[in-house]
Amino acid sequence: MQDDPRLQEAQSIPIEEVASRLAVDDLTRLGRERTGPCPRCGGTDRFSINTLKQVWHCRHGCSDGLGADGIGLVRLVMNCDFRAALDYLCGAADISIDPEERARRERVREQDRRKQEDRAAWHRRRAILRAREIWSECRPAAGSPVTDYLEQRGIRLHWLPSMPPALQYHPALPYMVQDHRNGGEWVEAHRGPAMVAAVTDAENRVVGVHRTWLDPRRPKGTAALTFNGEALKAKKTWGHVKGCAIRLGGAGPRTTLVMGEGIETTLSARVARQSDGWHFWAGISMGNMAGRRKLGKGLKYAGIPDLEDDEAFLPPAGVRELIFVQDGDSEPRLTRAQMLAGLRRAKACIASIERIRLVHPGEGRDLNDILMGAQDDH
Ligand SMILES: [Zn+2]
Repeated sequence: MQDDPRLQEAQSIPIEEVASRLAVDDLTRLGRERTGPCPRCGGTDRFSINTLKQVWHCRHGCSDGLGADGIGLVRLVMNCDFRAALDYLCGAADISIDPEERARRERVREQDRRKQEDRAAWHRRRAILRAREIWSECRPAAGSPVTDYLEQRGIRLHWLPSMPPALQYHPALPYMVQDHRNGGEWVEAHRGPAMVAAVTDAENRVVGVHRTWLDPRRPKGTAALTFNGEALKAKKTWGHVKGCAIRLGGAGPRTTLVMGEGIETTLSARVARQSDGWHFWAGISMGNMAGRRKLGKGLKYAGIPDLEDDEAFLPPAGVRELIFVQDGDSEPRLTRAQMLAGLRRAKACIASIERIRLVHPGEGRDLNDILMGAQDDH
């Protein structure tokens, strides 16, 4: 079976295409993961496919012994053996040997790929437009509950010359979720005051928004949200994020760029250190700041960037020093490796960068925690 020429052909079909051929399409997209009910054992979110790694998985063990690739997925859904799965994906063995037939299938696959790309581009454009719509509904953050929230998080805004324009306030922002108990329909799980941050691309155009739903009665100021009994994250992005950042200001021409993952950490850094030439951008997610890493035996913590990842964040030309601020609340070794990969990518790709630095404010604490702790002292 291993020397069946169809094996390679079957393995070259993207996992998402296999899923769509099998009508496994009630999945929610979250970055490179798509999650939903398992085609065999059901549930709501136990099944997932990862389009980057090209694998699928069921948390309830349906994947055991089947293989995590597209062939295994066919076996799961069609309940068949390996050979039948190959037949399903590539046609029966004798037919696929015909080179004309194979060429025809390759053409069809190419068309499918292009169609999928067009669809992805369309979704992306629509997501960007919606993000701009949300942004346009917002009001200035100065003097709004956003100010109270940031103060609550220990960020002494009066030390800043002004509220960064990339932060705004939305008095009643809907929180939409997909209801998997009801055919995946989008429903409003919550509506309330939120801090909205502009996610901007290399040309400083708004292509996404980062939203933090607020509740001043809670210790950290973010809303406690649930839907169908499951906790929802109080912070969510919408639109395009890859390669982008939230620009939180600075002074003078940009020569040093300081980046934390979150808005709070990055703003805290800005309050802590305001020097000419220093600018502060939030990198939004670790995946975005780190980009893809080289992985394999012994490389998990090596922090070596995969320079072929052309979507990862890169600082603008002209920056001479890039500083990443590590959050205290993440897994320290892994986070360090990820941030190092991002820093090294920047050094390798941006000619003006002379120096890269990773700042870690201490075990289990981020800059923001330190500021909040300092407040308790007096
Ligand atoms: Zn399952």
